[in-house]
Amino acid sequence: MNKKLFVISGSSGVGKGTVLKGFLERNPEFMLSISCTTRSPRPGEVDGVNYFFISKKEFQYCIDNNKFLEWAEFAGNFYGTKKKYINQCLEDGKDIILEIETNGAMQVKKQMPEAVLIFICPPSYETLENRLRGRHTEDEDTIQKRLDEVKKELKAAENFDYRIVNDDLETAITTLESVIKGEMEKC
Ligand code: 5GP
Repeated sequence: MNKKLFVISGSSGVGKGTVLKGFLERNPEFMLSISCTTRSPRPGEVDGVNYFFISKKEFQYCIDNNKFLEWAEFAGNFYGTKKKYINQCLEDGKDIILEIETNGAMQVKKQMPEAVLIFICPPSYETLENRLRGRHTEDEDTIQKRLDEVKKELKAAENFDYRIVNDDLETAITTLESVIKGEMEKC
């Protein structure tokens, strides 16, 4: 049976991580891809679990040597998914979920048209701004950069296969489950 690749994007603070966590707890057979990033770990984040935290030099080496399936600069840091890592997961028979921003999602769709793109939307821009500030994990400059990205991402969401509004967490998780199950049945 063909293994599927799902890409989930959504603006910072939209709660996509929480929706995804809920989905993965109920569907542990899916694997969440681990990305490379040049940003510093947040408290509690572990190398090789949340991300592979690498230097800018190492990231540039991977770009120059075509090692990434996709990569993007986001709010001053670099993020990317290694081709080798994804191919290995698919060969191992795993259905994979990538949680990445929209530029990267479009690159994946170009290279792997069978990938399914899902965007998690906020109920409104204002809700998102409040959630982002409420996290208290970033300074004002970082928050502003992230809000600029939000506007761009909401525009990019128009090109996604599915859009799920995260107004109520439980509803968002069950909608994500039915979208993914529907796609799996097409295999
Ligand atoms: P954070 O710094 O909050 O963990 O992530 C910032 C943004 O980078 C999020 O929108 C997240 O989905 C995205 N991101 C994480 N990993 C990757 C990746 O490998 N590629 C791309 N293009 N974006 C990523």
